[in-house]
Amino acid sequence: MKAWVIEKVCDLLKETSPLNLVDMPRPVPKKGEVLLKIRTCAVCHTEIDEIEGRTPPPNYPVVPGHQVVGIVEQITGQYSDIKNGDRVGVAWIYSACGTCDFCLSGQENLCDKFVATGRDVHGGYAEYMVVPEKFVYKIPAVFSDTEAAPLLCAGAIGYRSLVLCNMKNGNRLGLTGFGASAHLVLKLVKHKYPDSEVYAFARSEKERNFALQLGCKWAGDSHDKPTQKLDCIIDTTPVWKPVVEALQNLKAGGRLVINAIRKEELDKDYLLKLNYPEHLWKEKEIKSVANVARNDVVEFLKIAAEIPFKPEVQTYSFEKANRAILEIKQRKIKGAKVLII
Ligand SMILES: [Zn+2]
Ligand SMILES: [Zn+2]
Repeated sequence: MKAWVIEKVCDLLKETSPLNLVDMPRPVPKKGEVLLKIRTCAVCHTEIDEIEGRTPPPNYPVVPGHQVVGIVEQITGQYSDIKNGDRVGVAWIYSACGTCDFCLSGQENLCDKFVATGRDVHGGYAEYMVVPEKFVYKIPAVFSDTEAAPLLCAGAIGYRSLVLCNMKNGNRLGLTGFGASAHLVLKLVKHKYPDSEVYAFARSEKERNFALQLGCKWAGDSHDKPTQKLDCIIDTTPVWKPVVEALQNLKAGGRLVINAIRKEELDKDYLLKLNYPEHLWKEKEIKSVANVARNDVVEFLKIAAEIPFKPEVQTYSFEKANRAILEIKQRKIKGAKVLII
């Protein structure tokens, strides 16, 4: 089968073909696994973190991609109600130990043995993949293959971030960075908290206009001051400046939730601007979001189908995987990028 692989760490400002297209044997499912014929896979900023070595794969080569929609082609056991021919999704959580305190309390996203799809094992930038049967999710019929793919990471982790905000209807929410996850969060907020205003912070004017088009109350650059202090802010940027600025924009008792697997080192010195009375005093909190649990994916897909809401997507043919990756690096983002396989 054809697959794109990461073979080494590289600098995306210099490298124009970070992924290599290879022929590899079609994987054979072991007991408890299913074989999927992949239809679509969405592209995530985490692929950039893997390629640039901030969260490097433990083994090379590895097939990236953790927002996969495919058809079950072979099933080895019966551990769920999944059958051959079902259309299912795979998310960032490929497996967890199932026996530790975190796993037993529904926090399998924090398990020490957490295995990530498309980093620790082969993911969805390929024609086929194998995955544990208990870690696939039926895709509601209301979504097409391209619409469903970005729901599996951007959507599910956006959902987890929003839950961690602890917000109530009427609270003001800020979103720093307006990529795939933030735009899905905005749609979710409009459904769950109809009286809440959303404030978007983004570097590019394109992203700001997109945020306003989708119904944000206000949009500005990360150092602009919103008209109101905010109850909670979700940061989805890869850098530090928006974190410091966001803390200043929070109300007393407000919470900043950082939805980023790693931060870049580029502007780390911006943290020296952190001034305790302005940024942290009065019980302001910072919390990171780590991975997703299966429950996040299940709950999010259910709500998304009920609304139903369709993510804005940009599609790319399988051959254009490198282009999709480079466009994310260059922040040419308008909604979620999806590879058609
Ligand atoms: Zn992702
Ligand atoms: Zn565990």
